[in-house]
Amino acid sequence: MHQYKRSSELFDQAQKYIPGGVNSPVRAFKSVGGTPVFIKKAKGSILTDEDDNEYIDYISSWGPMILGHAHPTVIKAIKDKVEDSTSFGAPTELEIDIAKLIVDMVPNIDKVRMVNSGTEACMSAIRVARGYTGRNKFIKFEGCYHGHSDSFLIKAGSGASTFGEPNSPGVTPGTANDTLTAKYNDIENVKQVVADNKGEIAAIIIEAIAGNMGCVLPKKGFLEELRQICDEEGILLIFDEVMSGFRLAKGGAQEYFGVKADLVTFGKVIGGGMPVGAYAGPDEIMKVVSPVGPVYQAGTLSGNPIAMIAGYTLLSELNENPQHFTELADKCEYLHKGLDKVLADSGFAYRINRCGSMISVFFTDVDVVDFDTAATANNELFPKFFHEMLKRGIYLPPSSFESYFLSNSLTYEMLDKTIQAAKESLEAMKA
Ligand SMILES: *Cc1c(COP(=O)(O)O)cnc(C)c1O
Repeated sequence: MHQYKRSSELFDQAQKYIPGGVNSPVRAFKSVGGTPVFIKKAKGSILTDEDDNEYIDYISSWGPMILGHAHPTVIKAIKDKVEDSTSFGAPTELEIDIAKLIVDMVPNIDKVRMVNSGTEACMSAIRVARGYTGRNKFIKFEGCYHGHSDSFLIKAGSGASTFGEPNSPGVTPGTANDTLTAKYNDIENVKQVVADNKGEIAAIIIEAIAGNMGCVLPKKGFLEELRQICDEEGILLIFDEVMSGFRLAKGGAQEYFGVKADLVTFGKVIGGGMPVGAYAGPDEIMKVVSPVGPVYQAGTLSGNPIAMIAGYTLLSELNENPQHFTELADKCEYLHKGLDKVLADSGFAYRINRCGSMISVFFTDVDVVDFDTAATANNELFPKFFHEMLKRGIYLPPSSFESYFLSNSLTYEMLDKTIQAAKESLEAMKA
């Protein structure tokens, strides 16, 4: 059995100097209880904690480590680059290389602007949509997460919903007025919200495949109907591809589902583990962005050379070896089948949602299609399952509202070990 001696000590110390001991709330294990595990290092799909326990990683740093931790090519590129200084605040050739690569990989975009996080990307995309359309409001979906900027912390999913605080103090009613929320997968609800705010909506922003209420797939036709509503009403459709970008396919959800977005946002994989985000779109829309157009957006460290070389190297690897995506999907399907069997045998009510290399197990007896149905799985079974798995060396996301992210460094042997651990964990949960 694992010991968490050093992790406990570090967590005590961390709480003295850092709010809640962490720099992002989900890491505190609040929704599963217990002490968060402090990580020392990782290689491939194996995490090593400060007590030298090892875990098979199903978070992949929430997505970026799609080819595993400390990928040799990425690490070498960073090491080589860092000798030339870590930031200039002036343009570099590498920024052209990564922009060109992104435009090549992703459909329907001509230009891309790099920022430092997914939060910044989504915040900026909304500003661009407002500047372009001259309208103020936008629609987001309940349970989707678009980062922590004020206008999105309106019934946000993920961290916020885990804590049962749909609205954060500090967000003004004025800001909240311009954010409309609709139900995921409910097109009639979207039509209603649009009709009630006719001519006032700049954008509809969506996780085309949701990952922040667990993995929730769009119903057949839902994205197409959103596209149609946006075309009819002069609304921009924004795909938040911070999770799905360069993960579902080279071209992300647009390519995977065959639906065109007007603007896309990126994060996670795009930075290869460094703090990077981006937003992108066709010339017609991106021409409003400063310094060409009037919509201001800037960043002292945007396009940072170390971040860019990490992202460029990882994206190049994915671009040149598209079999990564099929291998990941195959592994995810294998895991799905294995978990499905042991869960069925266990007698617990459950649902599994899967798309590409994203998968979620929900302990519920209803199909999970939106935030309300996802919330039915936020019950006492999830923390038990989480801790039983952790004890057996499987590191799952510490919230029932988060998707697992597979890495292609997972081997079938590791998947078998995971399925076996799930079988034993479910048995232990019954005892
Ligand atoms: C993680 C995430 C964000 C926020 O990105 P950060 O880099 O954490 O700011 C935005 N949208 C989606 C869909 C995400 O999964």
